[in-house]
Amino acid sequence: MEYEPVIGLEVHAQLKTNTKIFCGCSTAFGAPPNTHTCPVCLGMPGVLPVLNRTVVEYAVKMALATHCTINHVSEWARKNYFYPDLPKGYQISQYDRPLAERGYVDLDINEEGKRVNITRIHMEEDAGKLIHDESAPVSYVDLNRAGVPLIEIVSEPDMRSPEEGAAYLRRLHEILVYLEICDGNMEEGNFRCDANVSLRPKGEPAFGTRTELKNMNSFRNVQRALEYEIRRQQYVLESGGTVIQETRLWDDARGTTLPMRGKEEAHDYRYFPDPDLVPVTVADEWIDEIRRTLPELPREKRERFIREYEIPAYDAGVLTASRAIADYYEQVATRCGKPKAASNWVMGDILGHIKEDKVEMEDCPITAADLGNLVRLIDDGTISGKMAKDVFEEMWSSGEKPETVIKKRGLVQITDAGALEAVVDEVIAANPAQVEQFRGGKEKVFGFFVGQVMKKTKGQASPGLVNEILKRKLSGS
Ligand code: ADP
Ligand code: MG
Ligand code: ZN
Repeated sequence: MEYEPVIGLEVHAQLKTNTKIFCGCSTAFGAPPNTHTCPVCLGMPGVLPVLNRTVVEYAVKMALATHCTINHVSEWARKNYFYPDLPKGYQISQYDRPLAERGYVDLDINEEGKRVNITRIHMEEDAGKLIHDESAPVSYVDLNRAGVPLIEIVSEPDMRSPEEGAAYLRRLHEILVYLEICDGNMEEGNFRCDANVSLRPKGEPAFGTRTELKNMNSFRNVQRALEYEIRRQQYVLESGGTVIQETRLWDDARGTTLPMRGKEEAHDYRYFPDPDLVPVTVADEWIDEIRRTLPELPREKRERFIREYEIPAYDAGVLTASRAIADYYEQVATRCGKPKAASNWVMGDILGHIKEDKVEMEDCPITAADLGNLVRLIDDGTISGKMAKDVFEEMWSSGEKPETVIKKRGLVQITDAGALEAVVDEVIAANPAQVEQFRGGKEKVFGFFVGQVMKKTKGQASPGLVNEILKRKLSGS
């Protein structure tokens, strides 16, 4: 029997506001434990939460970017459970009436593409963190993260393979980072994903029983966990068993999922409206105002790059990986007027060096204008492509302008046909055997002649011109 996987993801994204969702404490990562806390986020009795307006603004941004319908009135609910990292004994979240519903994102996966529907986006507060002592049977609680704002983005069970799951996750991540509302660092836990997966016989309309996978801290591990879990469920079904609804933890070291809690132990969260907070109201005027601040999103940017600069889809994908790279590329392309050449320089040389030297795109030592000028200098024949590589290296290490480097090194290309003809004549005269071979039909020798001319001119001869002159002279005309 052939089985089809059904996958739905629940994504938590920490919003990068300066302060927490219901108090004025800092959200900065990495502070000494419990230094970013106050009576509100410590859950002291008698205190009242006050909503941070920026949280709503950011959540609305994400809702708009994913084509959701925004509810003009949404409600806060208490999600009750006991755990030491949750001082109040409940998490303030949204339940019946979330901020936004019914959106979608489109994935550029295979030819037809793929739309994944979003069920809802709601706001909530993060919990604290437990720190387990390796050397003693004790655990500590750090409440710096308690009250940091989150949005939860719940998808419909629309994905049909681990690749689609990973592609959807990447798309959400890309949008959040472009919107500059989330750092998207999976290792630091500010972008997290729980994956629900079930199998059904191919062609069967009803869904099978699902398991929920937790504890994957990279895109790759989400995909690996799904792949493993699909194999496991398939094995269970094929050996006549039934999949039980449960939560399973991904074990990175072993590459497997292990049961954490079953349906019987599933929480009854006893949700009810939070009496301490009034409903959130979002007026159309505010939504419009926020919509006007949305940047061009990655997918649209990609499509525009392909259309406007006529570069391959692959290039457009690489060049829109971040807003900083995209902005840089556009400036280079505009400056030199050679979009494909600009793309090659940015994708190869700039991104290569960025990676090698571990610098941020924002700190690139070569300005976009200077790189654009360098490309222009190749285009107008001032220097050859080969010289340009050396000039580039020096620009990268010194931050100097291309014109400065070229002048300093005396690198101007020899485009004087008369001067080059003299060099070509010398080379031909000095290598009669090779001339003989070439004329006898061994065309590979041509490269040898080009190399000799380049050597004599210290690489400064215009390659186009050298080819032309050599061809003419060697063929004996
Ligand atoms: P819960 O309230 O337990 O989190 P939801 O109904 O909200 O359950 O679903 C959570 C996630 O599980 C959603 O992303 C949804 O798409 C996905 N999901 C629901 N049913 C299935 C299923 N049978 N197979 C795979 N995923 C599913
Ligand atoms: Mg859930
Ligand atoms: Zn606080």
